[in-house]
Amino acid sequence: MIESQSNIAHELAAIAGYSNVLTDTPMSDYTTFKVGGCADYLVFPENTNALTSIIQYCLDNNRPWFLLGKGSNLVVSDKGMRCVVIATNKLNSYSFVGNTVTADCGVDLIKLSKASASTSLSGLEFACGIPGSVGGAVFMNAGAYEGDISQVLLSSQALSIEQNGNGQLQAVPIVISSQEHRFSYRHSIFQDRQLIHISSTFQLIKRDKNQILSKIDKLTTARESKQPLELPSAGSVFRRPAGYFVGKLIEECGLRGYRLGGAAVSEKHCGFIVNLGNATASDIKALISHVQDTVFNRFGVELQTEIRFVGEE
Ligand SMILES: Cc1cc2nc3c(=O)[nH]c(=O)nc-3n(C[C@H](O)[C@H](O)[C@H](O)COP(=O)(O)OP(=O)(O)OC[C@H]3O[C@@H](n4cnc5c(N)ncnc54)[C@H](O)[C@@H]3O)c2cc1C
Repeated sequence: MIESQSNIAHELAAIAGYSNVLTDTPMSDYTTFKVGGCADYLVFPENTNALTSIIQYCLDNNRPWFLLGKGSNLVVSDKGMRCVVIATNKLNSYSFVGNTVTADCGVDLIKLSKASASTSLSGLEFACGIPGSVGGAVFMNAGAYEGDISQVLLSSQALSIEQNGNGQLQAVPIVISSQEHRFSYRHSIFQDRQLIHISSTFQLIKRDKNQILSKIDKLTTARESKQPLELPSAGSVFRRPAGYFVGKLIEECGLRGYRLGGAAVSEKHCGFIVNLGNATASDIKALISHVQDTVFNRFGVELQTEIRFVGEE
């Protein structure tokens, strides 16, 4: 570790605790695609106060940061991340009040879906196979099988970056109503503004537990039969283009199973790209470009990516 890096690590440790700060850590260990170079700093705040203080520290010292949920929608570049990566997985409390549940940003969405079912609360069944965190799901307006976050979210707590009277940037706690999220397909206001998601409250409906569990079983079976869950990926690579099915377009271009380095178009679901074991982020990016070009040349359809690319190029 070089001297200045060590100073920054100590400063972060003073806020988050020494056991909660890592340096030069491979992001491949923290993403479902299992690719990505090292993060200079990886911090695991254990509570909202620590998270707020880390953000304020980054603002005061002009250090860029990145919020990491479960890393299930990311391709981190092979050169890695020159910033403070703030992992939310230790912010993982949730509680039920009446027919609502409030969950911290780092709560595992699948766990929350199942916990809601066990409490006979319906609404989050669609999320039973989405391997993200609550923060990542609100950021993405994650959804599946006709459901999405926007349909159940009541409000979120967040940090907003605002200027105070002296012109200094501050992390200010705010509440965002459902409408203010400006949800649309795989989009929320968190993608437009520098907001840090802290927690969300979801409105659920009391239903028969067995019915909820049977819906979860049905959706799980459907997912397992269609998706290559046995290989590392970040789920569907592309957004759904109006009027087309991504998988069908890719298949009709003859790209099922097409390989580039260690990355391949999934044999099981052409909308997925999988890591065959030794893929790099560059392999994945090159394969995505190849798929986009091929589909455009054949059908004139521009495929936009749903997964997000981060890190030093
Ligand atoms: C096998 C598989 C199946 C999938 N199926 C689906 C599916 O059916 N539907 C679907 O919508 N998605 C699906 N996904 C994609 C992914 O799980 C979702 O997009 C999920 O919501 C991402 O959450 P995450 O915690 O992993 O976010 P990350 O990948 O860690 O981050 C995604 C973005 O959210 C931001 N972010 C995360 N936490 C915060 C926070 N607290 N505050 C501010 N910004 C934050 C990050 O900075 C990043 O820009 C799938 C992925 C896989 C691997």
